[in-house]
Amino acid sequence: MVGPFEFATATRIVFGFGAIRSLAALAQPLGARALVVTGANTTRAVRALAGLEASYFSFTGEPTLAIVREGVKAARSCQFVIGFGGGSAMDAAKAIAALAPNSGEPLDYLEVIGQGHTLEHAPLPFLMVPTTAGTGAEVTRNAVLGSPEHGVRASLRSPLLVPRAALIDPELTLEAPPGITASTGLDTLTQLIEPFVSCRANALTDGFCLDGMRRAASALPKVFRNGLDRDARAEMAYASLLSGLSLANAGLGIVHGFASPLGGLLEAPHGALCAAVLPHGIAVNIRALRERAPDHDALNKYRRIAQLLTADSHAEPDDAVGYVSNLCRSLGVSSLRSYGLEPSGIPELVAKVASASSTKANPIPLSMGELAEIAERAL
Ligand SMILES: [Zn+2]
Repeated sequence: MVGPFEFATATRIVFGFGAIRSLAALAQPLGARALVVTGANTTRAVRALAGLEASYFSFTGEPTLAIVREGVKAARSCQFVIGFGGGSAMDAAKAIAALAPNSGEPLDYLEVIGQGHTLEHAPLPFLMVPTTAGTGAEVTRNAVLGSPEHGVRASLRSPLLVPRAALIDPELTLEAPPGITASTGLDTLTQLIEPFVSCRANALTDGFCLDGMRRAASALPKVFRNGLDRDARAEMAYASLLSGLSLANAGLGIVHGFASPLGGLLEAPHGALCAAVLPHGIAVNIRALRERAPDHDALNKYRRIAQLLTADSHAEPDDAVGYVSNLCRSLGVSSLRSYGLEPSGIPELVAKVASASSTKANPIPLSMGELAEIAERAL
């Protein structure tokens, strides 16, 4: 039976080479001046947004509460916000747009480590322009922020956090170097696998996940080898969009449950952390389902994932594990230990994974022992 489900996303999605040329027309009704939130390098944004009345707010690394506080000050003279960059720039832009019209501290509104208050006033309108493929953050309704003092990353989440438009122009991803291409692409793949087996999966996002996995499996090795492969870049930008549409409406799972606290503990790209955990998360999930819920539909879904990724119609669920392990290795993904995780840190990590919001959407609840096993295997 189809449904029931709910689906929400950006008001408008403009996709394709040249999509960036729609920006001026989309920005025009939103106000006189934009705050453009970017990563360290603003050159490309300045070039792409030439002619737009704008202030620029740039930062390095992942967005923290302190960065968002600074951005909110910078937004005072602006009527709308543009996030131009990877997931970090887009998440910071969303949080700044959300908090500019609201009083209080960013922490008041954060899940898990904060008060989780709902936004009293609607965010400033905001537009999303991704330059990586990607996190899918251009169409999600949460912003992931780091809090160094808590040692975790947590989400500011609101149904009001819907972008006015997402402009996805694969041209902007052509310059991404192989390392970023690999980690962001593996994040995309993880964000297509997890919503597909999620306990909140629905018919609409299932279709997106299957299509996205097929495209990403074929295009990711190509863009890693040749970043100027325009067809493959467009495929990955589209797969990333599908991943954002899916995760925002069907949730994630245990791999992102790990990525959230790991992102607070280690200096490593989010996608690389997801990739390091992905094969082990899949393996333990499959075993737990066989042991405790052998009739669960997620087992059939893991079989479909395996068949789709390996392009072998006889593949079994476990073949997905081997495929993902090989893919990670060929894209240069390292183990968690190489990013600085020590075996002694596993108990604290596992306690945080158990309370992460993504963990709640895992197809089957995992025991603390199973969580520790995933961490040990990913070490
Ligand atoms: Zn992710």
